[in-house]
Amino acid sequence: MTTHPNPYRLGVLAGDGIGPEIVPVSVRIVDAALDAVGAAGIEWLPLPLGRAAIDEFGSPLPDGTLRTLAELDGWLLGPHDSAAYPQPHRSRLNPSGTIRKHFDLFANIRPAKAFEAAKAIVPGTDLVIVRENTQGFYADRNTHTGTGEFMPTPDVAIAHGIFTREAVERIAHVAFDLARRRRNKVTIVHKANVLQLTSGLFRDVCRQVAEQYPEVAVDDQHIDAMTVHLLRRADEFDVIVTENMFGDILSDLTGEIAGSLGIAPAINASHERAMAQAAHGAAPDIAGRDLANPVAMILSSAMLLDWLGTRHSDDALRRAARLVESGVARTIRRGIATADIGGSATTSGFGTAVTEAIASGEIRG
Ligand code: ATP
Repeated sequence: MTTHPNPYRLGVLAGDGIGPEIVPVSVRIVDAALDAVGAAGIEWLPLPLGRAAIDEFGSPLPDGTLRTLAELDGWLLGPHDSAAYPQPHRSRLNPSGTIRKHFDLFANIRPAKAFEAAKAIVPGTDLVIVRENTQGFYADRNTHTGTGEFMPTPDVAIAHGIFTREAVERIAHVAFDLARRRRNKVTIVHKANVLQLTSGLFRDVCRQVAEQYPEVAVDDQHIDAMTVHLLRRADEFDVIVTENMFGDILSDLTGEIAGSLGIAPAINASHERAMAQAAHGAAPDIAGRDLANPVAMILSSAMLLDWLGTRHSDDALRRAARLVESGVARTIRRGIATADIGGSATTSGFGTAVTEAIASGEIRG
C-alpha cells in the first residue's frame, strides 16, 4: 500500500512542431480520467527536448533530461522535427532514437484501429504492429558506438543491417503474448526471399517462438506484398511483427488505412520503462494553427497508463486507460473531430470535448 498522494511520476517532453499543442491536451485528459476513476494523480515532470532545448541547453536532448528520465518508469514524448535542426544536431541520431537506444526500449507497439464515425480506407481495421526497435535495417541505431552508416569516399555510402536471435526472440514473445490477449493471430513480415540471411533469421526465429504458442495462428508475408494486403484487407490482420524499418513504414500506412496518421498511437517499451509517442512526426506544415489531431498522442498516453497499470498491478490505471479510449471514441461518434478525419474541430476544442465527456461521468472505461 502506498501513502504517497502521487505514486507515479511521469515525464512530459512536448517536443517540436505540433508537440506543444497535442501533448498538453493529452496530459489534461489523463488527469481527468484518473480523477474520474478515483485513482491517485500523476506528478508530471516537464523536461526540455527538441529545438527549444537546443536554444537553451545547446542540445536537443540535454544530459539533464536523460538523467531525469532514468529515474522514471514512463513519459510522454511529443514529436521532434530533427530534419530542421541546425548542424551538427541534424546529422546525429535524433532524440527519440537516442532515448529508445539509451533505455533499450526494444518494443514499439503501434495499433491501427478505425473509428466507426471517421473515414477509414479499410473500415473495421483493428490491428497492432509490433516493431523491433533496436536493430534491423535502421543502421543509425544498431551499433554500440557510431551510427552504422559510413562513407569511405564522398561518392560511396554504406549502411548495415543487424539481426540477432536474442533480439528477434524477445520481440516475437511480445507479439505472441499480445496476440493471446487479442484474436490469436500473428503475421511475420520480412523480405527473406531477397535478404535470405538477415530477414531470413528474423522470420525463422519468429517461427520458432511461435511453436511455444500453439493456440496462436501464424503466417508470414513479404513486406512488399504486405502493403497490398493491408490496402485491400487490413481488417483481416491482428498482430504484425516486423523489423525496425519495415515497421516504421508499415505503421504510417496502417495509420492512414485506419483513418489518419493523426489517430495512430504508439508506445516504446522495455520490461522496465515505457514511452508514449504517437506514430506521426512533428507535422510542421500545420504546426501552431490548432489544427493537429491530438488523438494519436491521447491514445498513446492511454497505452502508457495501461502499461503502467499492468506493471504495477494497478487496476485503477487500466480503468483510466479504457476511459480515455472511450472518451475519444464517443467524442468522434458525436461528430467532433479534426479536419484530417473529416471534421472541423480544433486541437484544443477536441481536447476539451474529450475532457468534458470523461468528467461528465456519462461514459465508463
Ligand atoms: P517523421 O519522419 O518525423 O515521422 P514525417 O516526415 O513522417 O515525420 P509527419 O510529420 O508525420 O511526417 O507528417 C506527415 C503528414 O501527416 C503531414 O502532412 C502532416 O500534416 C500529417 N500529420 C501528421 N500528424 C498529424 C496530426 N496529428 N494531425 C493531422 N495531420 C497530421
